[in-house]
Amino acid sequence: MVILRPTPESLDTDVLIIGAGPAGLMAALTLSRLGIRVKLLDRRVPGETAGQADGIQPRTMEIWESLGIGAELKAVGSHIHRSVMYVPNDDGSGIKEASQTLTLPLDCTPHPYTLCVASSMTEGMLIRALAERGVIIDQPFVPKSMQIVKTEDDARVSYVEVTVAGLHEDYLRINGVRQADRGKLIDIPEAVKAGHVIRAKYVLGCDGARSWVRKAVGIALEGETTDLVWGVVEFTPETNFPTMRASNVIASPLSGGILHVPRENDTARVYIRLRRDPNTVAEGETQGSASQDSQEKIIESIEKAFLPYTMRLTNVTWCNEYKVGRRVASAFSSANCVFLLGDAVRTHSPMAGQGANGAMADACNLAWKLAYVLQGRANPDILDTYEAERRAHAMELMKFDRDIFEAFRPGVFTADAYINVRDQKVMFMSGVGVKCESRLTVPDRERVAPGLRIGERVPWAGITRHSDWTPSNLLDLMAYNGHFKLIILPGDIRDPLVAHLFSAFSWKLVESLRKDVIKFLDIFTVLDVPKETSCEGLHLPPAFRITENVYADEDGRGQAQQNGRLYESLNVRPDRGAAIVVRPDGITAMVTGVRAEYVDGIVKYLDAL
Ligand SMILES: Cc1cc2nc3c(=O)[nH]c(=O)nc-3n(C[C@H](O)[C@H](O)[C@H](O)COP(=O)(O)OP(=O)(O)OC[C@H]3O[C@@H](n4cnc5c(N)ncnc54)[C@H](O)[C@@H]3O)c2cc1C
Repeated sequence: MVILRPTPESLDTDVLIIGAGPAGLMAALTLSRLGIRVKLLDRRVPGETAGQADGIQPRTMEIWESLGIGAELKAVGSHIHRSVMYVPNDDGSGIKEASQTLTLPLDCTPHPYTLCVASSMTEGMLIRALAERGVIIDQPFVPKSMQIVKTEDDARVSYVEVTVAGLHEDYLRINGVRQADRGKLIDIPEAVKAGHVIRAKYVLGCDGARSWVRKAVGIALEGETTDLVWGVVEFTPETNFPTMRASNVIASPLSGGILHVPRENDTARVYIRLRRDPNTVAEGETQGSASQDSQEKIIESIEKAFLPYTMRLTNVTWCNEYKVGRRVASAFSSANCVFLLGDAVRTHSPMAGQGANGAMADACNLAWKLAYVLQGRANPDILDTYEAERRAHAMELMKFDRDIFEAFRPGVFTADAYINVRDQKVMFMSGVGVKCESRLTVPDRERVAPGLRIGERVPWAGITRHSDWTPSNLLDLMAYNGHFKLIILPGDIRDPLVAHLFSAFSWKLVESLRKDVIKFLDIFTVLDVPKETSCEGLHLPPAFRITENVYADEDGRGQAQQNGRLYESLNVRPDRGAAIVVRPDGITAMVTGVRAEYVDGIVKYLDAL
């Protein structure tokens, strides 16, 4: 509902985030890193767990690195490099190994594996990173009502007013109120300890699949209910199964399709497709526990599935059965001031380990755009690109989810069918191959660098800093600091003409860019020369930071050292060079030649944000 009010003197916060799961925590962290005031609330009591995501994909680890976090989880989590497929053995009494493969090609990312850690550990890391920035979660809090307010003097200016209620932890504990039921307590005086109004420029609905925010702005989830019921168990295995440190996909003649993933501290999680009537299981009830009877059946089926190996499930910490809908929101935002992220905007099966990863990617995509608008560096219509880019991802995910689900259908499930689906989508699953397409990504029509995938994150390519020979990588330069990056590949500057053209380009660039744009632009140069080459003849403006930001296209150390791989992989034309504009979220946005006549294109792009 939209109402008119006088312009307030000030707002309580720039961005109010409702829900502190992976989407909300990442949104709060990225926004606060960019200097945006945030408030974050959640209906959970501190320390109470909610999410179940344990598979962290390579692109998420890269994003964490760009924020300076993640090392602690990589140290404790289980790294899944190896995937093994099992099929029925010859007499159908159990299983035998059929094939094995790498989880991911080794040369596409510094983290070619899935990291498996409990979701509470991932959330804990994000909460600690937020606390270091002075951001704490208001909890247990629930929203009561929300209004979009237009100001009377300028109808284009709006903000959002949300009435929230703090809940008594004792009331929740004594009455055993489930997380899903806490929103219903707002009219029970004994349950509510405080209520107040928060006025924010933007509200982010990060409140999960049954999002209150989504319903409050009248956005529907559209899609289908799947007819397959899954069981999931977390436990400590006692076993002689030979590939416990790999992820295992098992086509058991006795129990059907099984997916096993190793976890931290020698624990494990197993998903099993259950022969249950889908009508007996409620959609989206992923947090609870299965009945004792169901748990016993699930555990028995899993133990049987590993025959002829012994598998005993001890110390079972979670066992549930669930059915998931495959749905995408009809809109990702309302009135350009309420945005939906994560499960609030799409739901699907957890089979491919995508939900939490996608939720965190949503946050990274949206946060810098919100920061740019709030800081007056971009027009509000840049926010439309959030839906354009993330809806395409959601639709591709739905298709992938359908394919992988169908691969597990009883009767048709084979290791080959699974591998087929997986192999086709391995880069998408890893997050590394997810593409953003909107007005912010400009196709390379002149084929300046045909090997560059515009709309994907910058390639993982080893380089060497020219001044001190420090080995580095293009990805290492992509700090999530709110700055655009310009990666310039001028060519072989030992050729005086190339050096001259590069110099002319560089001076025209800094003269043409507005001061407030150049302040938020990090310029890096990668030369197509060995690192020993002298740069004395290069005459570049100070913004090019020749000591810190000039690199040689030289990968590796010692004998393994190789020159020219980046230029070669991007297919950069030696007569033109390439200047790659990269967005603050590490996504390549456009590429031009390194000649003075191309500067206007770069300036126009950055001016038109
Ligand atoms: C069994 C299982 C396994 C999975 N495995 C993986 C995996 O390996 N990898 C992966 O990426 N994903 C996985 N997922 C999916 C993943 O858990 C979700 O996609 C992810 O948690 C979504 O994050 P989110 O922040 O959008 O929502 P949630 O994690 O649901 O967080 C929503 C938050 O909002 C709060 N909230 C909700 N309503 C309100 C309200 N009215 N007021 C205040 N607060 C509210 C909740 O308390 C919660 O903290 C799995 C899911 C399941 C069920």
